[in-house]
Amino acid sequence: MLQEIILSPFRGFCAGVDRAIFAVEECIERFGTVYVNHQIVHNTHVVRDLESKGAVFIEDIAEVPTGSYLIFSAHGVSPQLKEQSRNFKLLPIDATCPLVTKVHIEAQDYFRKGYSLILIGHAGHQETLGTMGYAPMTLVQTVEDVEKLEMHNGKIVYLTQTTLSLDDTKDIVFALKKKFSNIESPKVEDICYATQNRQDSVKELAERCQLILVVGSQNSSNSKRLVETAKRFGIPSYLIEDESEINFDWLENVTTLGLTSGASVPEFLVKNVLNAITSCFGNISVHNLERIDEKIEFALPRELN
Ligand code: SF4
Repeated sequence: MLQEIILSPFRGFCAGVDRAIFAVEECIERFGTVYVNHQIVHNTHVVRDLESKGAVFIEDIAEVPTGSYLIFSAHGVSPQLKEQSRNFKLLPIDATCPLVTKVHIEAQDYFRKGYSLILIGHAGHQETLGTMGYAPMTLVQTVEDVEKLEMHNGKIVYLTQTTLSLDDTKDIVFALKKKFSNIESPKVEDICYATQNRQDSVKELAERCQLILVVGSQNSSNSKRLVETAKRFGIPSYLIEDESEINFDWLENVTTLGLTSGASVPEFLVKNVLNAITSCFGNISVHNLERIDEKIEFALPRELN
């Protein structure tokens, strides 16, 4: 019978998501209707809420009327898309997370210096699609991809998608270093603090809980990685959009449940999950793991300053 719920203190909005959502709200307030390229962050509830306030989410910028404001999502976009938006006479506002922008700048720098680039990431993810526009690069997703890689001799460097943790990339990095003795790592790891903190916290939960629920949308890369982290530690884990997706059969034989959420998840969704479980089980102890403050904030996109 469930007795305890332990919350990850590192859950919910990261600084990049906070900034992107605030940018959309600010634009709506200043300009009325605004167009947003792709989901501003990968969370269904956030997107619905912003739609109700006046945001229009599009996947093809040809749909945007000339002279409209167009916001680029936190995942970043390619320079080609930025150019296209200027050609269409749109007014772009770049809400790309500064940590993703850092990878874009690194990619351009390394390419200019004559490096061959390898990107560790997920094919088709919005961030990967954007980053691959900044320089020619080869995407690897698995160790098997590394084995098949053929690179000409010369300087090689790898970069990584920000929503993969050090654990997620370590086998691929090991395989790359084994295959290419001269390969260089980025000067500073591309992994973002929020991704790492949220995964480290799941590892702590995994030592104390029999099941971990992760609140997040199915298309949220960082939320899915949290589920994988728990499973890597032998703990069953499920990704749920909100309280309606809780299957109470999962909680049979669980005395301590871990609860966390991805970096694009509003806190009210975690509260709703918590309320649904506590109202079903009655008197349960609920507490947070200890945390050190993340203290990271990003300035608004310069177009809004
Ligand atoms: S998860 Fe990290 S890289 Fe992604 S938006 Fe948040 S702070 Fe930026």
